[in-house]
Amino acid sequence: MSVTHAPQTADVLARQDPELAEILLGELDRQSSTLQLVAAENFCSPAVLAALGSALANKYAEGYPGARHHGGCEMVDVAERLAVERAKSLFGAEHANVQSHSGSSAVLAAYAALLRPGDTVLALGLPYGGHLTHGSPANFSGRWFDFVPYGVDAETGIIDHEQVRTLARTHRPKAIVCGSIAYPRHIDYAYFREVADEVGAYLIADAAHPIGLVAGGAAPSPVPYADVVCATTHKVLRGPRGGMLLCGSELAERVDRAVFPFTQGGAQMHTIAAKAVAFGEAATPAFSAYAHQVVANARVLAAALADEGLVVTTGGTDTHLVTADPAPLGVDGRTARGRLAAAGMVLDCCVLPHADLRGLRLGTAAVTTQGMAEKEMARIAALLAGVVRGGVESARAREEVRDLVGGFPPYPA
Ligand SMILES: *Cc1c(COP(=O)(O)O)cnc(C)c1O
Repeated sequence: MSVTHAPQTADVLARQDPELAEILLGELDRQSSTLQLVAAENFCSPAVLAALGSALANKYAEGYPGARHHGGCEMVDVAERLAVERAKSLFGAEHANVQSHSGSSAVLAAYAALLRPGDTVLALGLPYGGHLTHGSPANFSGRWFDFVPYGVDAETGIIDHEQVRTLARTHRPKAIVCGSIAYPRHIDYAYFREVADEVGAYLIADAAHPIGLVAGGAAPSPVPYADVVCATTHKVLRGPRGGMLLCGSELAERVDRAVFPFTQGGAQMHTIAAKAVAFGEAATPAFSAYAHQVVANARVLAAALADEGLVVTTGGTDTHLVTADPAPLGVDGRTARGRLAAAGMVLDCCVLPHADLRGLRLGTAAVTTQGMAEKEMARIAALLAGVVRGGVESARAREEVRDLVGGFPPYPA
């Protein structure tokens, strides 16, 4: 089996640096022989991996196509223009910036484009699924801006829309952020737009998670509503690790200058080429079918976990995300995650609204890319509950996971 799935590099690496090649093969084996339920992960295509492992990795390209600080940018300029055009057409946006190195860098650039240090920003609180860049004291966001958190309804787990409006009226924020690392429901972008307009705030949609569903037509788009949309390209969207920004023409120059030169130096041209490949893939009917299957799978998984006795936040999902409290099975999230890891089921803990202990966060993007469907989701839920309860011994569960994933190789030979 090749080490990287980038044909021009795979065997070279195995020959020249067997020690590292061994590690890469070990990771490929881990990804193929265990169950990938980490909500932020996916399997990008061999074509995306090939672009990442290409000679574009050698190229320095500060600036933007046609206005670079380095010579020799003829080819990478074409690649970046293609990525930008594909992103604009995929999301119906007037402007796209595809240079952000990560989702966090994209959020940083959005703030840099619209805010000054000390400005007030309204965002989903971290205990309810806000990201580090939404005001964590450990992050630049919490240090440089005055974040006011909104929450979710204690009963339903749904965003407390009335509270959003009340806090906006009281604090008159310069920007309102909507987006989350764990919220399983669609976000009502029209509502957030209305509140932002009422108080004269910018609306920033951090769609890092659902942007892939948006691309496939399986979730509502923030593009018509938000002043700036920040996103990642590596989650449900299934591209290389990276970020991007979408906005209207009037903010295009501010957003571009916020990325380069304000927050970044040279663009990573191999990654931008890989983003172009991923945007091309995401524009196909096959991707749309995948995106809808991701949601169908998550719905089945959520319902089956609820049947097994876990408390599913918001009672279900509209997206690829499911968060659930395993407490009724007798363990907290951390213990559950440990037991599941021993069985080869890889997922995350997350904070649960109004619970002291942690819950489980699962996503269906990776398993759907592998080709799993509703039947496999039911099998996963039953196995997960058995392992968490302690009823299924981990060696037996590990065998069952091997058997399950064995039928769905992420990179068929
Ligand atoms: C994943 C995520 C990010 C950060 O992306 P990185 O690439 O890890 O920096 C930011 N915001 C939200 C809502 C996310 O889910």
